[in-house]
Amino acid sequence: MERIIVVGGGAGGLELVTKLGDKLGRKKRAEIMLIDQNTEHLWKPLLHEIATGALNDQTDHISYLSQAQSHHFSFKQGKLINIDRDNKQVIITDANRAALGYSDADVAINYDVLVIAIGCTSNDFGTPGVKEHAIFLDDQKSAIKLRKILLSTFIRFDMDAANAAQQSKIKIAIVGGGATGIELASELPNMVNTLKTSGYPNLGEQMLDISLVEAADRISPALPEKVSLGITKTLQNMGVKVLTKTMIVKADNEGLYTKDGQTIAADIIVWAAGVKAPDFLNNIAGLESNRNNQLVVKPTLQSTRDDTIFVIGDSSSCMQDNGKLVSPTAQAAHQMVPVCAYNIEKSMNDLPMKKFKYNDKGIIISLHNTAQGVVSMIGSKGFHAKGCFALLIHRVLYRMHLASLLGICRTVRFTLAARVINKTKSTLSGDK
Ligand SMILES: Cc1cc2nc3c(=O)[nH]c(=O)nc-3n(C[C@H](O)[C@H](O)[C@H](O)COP(=O)(O)OP(=O)(O)OC[C@H]3O[C@@H](n4cnc5c(N)ncnc54)[C@H](O)[C@@H]3O)c2cc1C
Repeated sequence: MERIIVVGGGAGGLELVTKLGDKLGRKKRAEIMLIDQNTEHLWKPLLHEIATGALNDQTDHISYLSQAQSHHFSFKQGKLINIDRDNKQVIITDANRAALGYSDADVAINYDVLVIAIGCTSNDFGTPGVKEHAIFLDDQKSAIKLRKILLSTFIRFDMDAANAAQQSKIKIAIVGGGATGIELASELPNMVNTLKTSGYPNLGEQMLDISLVEAADRISPALPEKVSLGITKTLQNMGVKVLTKTMIVKADNEGLYTKDGQTIAADIIVWAAGVKAPDFLNNIAGLESNRNNQLVVKPTLQSTRDDTIFVIGDSSSCMQDNGKLVSPTAQAAHQMVPVCAYNIEKSMNDLPMKKFKYNDKGIIISLHNTAQGVVSMIGSKGFHAKGCFALLIHRVLYRMHLASLLGICRTVRFTLAARVINKTKSTLSGDK
């Protein structure tokens, strides 16, 4: 029986392994294995809500083990470190062996078909001081770390404000005017207001001094100018300073330094700019990669130099017919799944495969209790969506992801359960 290994259980990988398990694993037509460095899946676009306590970090997870048991695949916790294409093996650091202190924690696992779906992180472009002084919002660990830092900073300011005649401001600089930076900036005033009503009376959104810093001439440059201006206005109404055409050249414990000699003082720096795949993917096992370390794929989603290796989601570099690369979004990762699953099955039988064609359904950016963006419905060219309607569409993308993993009935139950837990268990308490 052929063995299909999917490395990375994120937005794309977990949907893929679930689909392959249901289709091929269930009928014992192939052995399917998921490898991920973590034990649970959390959809990355929720990270800013985890960081600001809008979501409880324990409610929206899916355990890889329980998903594997229900969908006919196996799960191994480990970190991919290399690929041996000659022997068709992935080399991983086995998390259990490493935790038990084994000296031989690195193990080789055979594959017939391999799928790489390990995603991307933000890119500091080698800017001096950023690694040391900024927080990245790349995974659950970093989101929880950011929440702890925000909480302790806010609580300290509440105590100081009680004693001081002149109140100072809490300076937060967020670098990167894409979805992550915008959504995070828009949640912070609500976080402070929630704390104010939870025993920290000296706090208030007027104490926040938030700067959203973007190198391009407007935030959210992927959206039409009119939409981008609308988002800028909403943020400004929330008290966020939007600094465009501002290139950061250095960071230290005082704040950020711009190319034109300005200083942006900051108590907390969050780096949410750029996108790159992990460095070890660069030219891994002789596979073709681009300057962001993403692996270059053919329209069939197979890597250009090895037909037995597929790459999906953010870690792939996939050129479309229009000469543009597929953007690294949850939407694209979700759309790659059915094509990749189909092509894997066909490749096992030497049958013709499909080409992946990205269908851009638009971009919606959530702004706390509203949203803005562009939506492309069937036959429409894309229209400016705002308010509750846009927020609803933003929420639908996550529900679609859950439905691919859990089915519709369990998605409804999961959503209701998460809602109850979020209402009863706040993560905005000082001990977190
Ligand atoms: C804060 C934030 C907000 C976002 N908002 C939106 C949005 O509104 N809309 C949208 O479309 N997109 C959004 N995105 C982008 C979206 O999250 C990604 O495009 C999407 O998650 C990519 O899916 P993926 O499967 O390629 O990788 P990921 O979802 O990143 O999953 C990668 C998986 O690989 C695992 N992994 C990584 N390295 C290794 C390794 N060496 N070995 C083993 N496992 C490994 C990780 O643990 C993870 O489970 C946002 C991203 C962030 C960070």
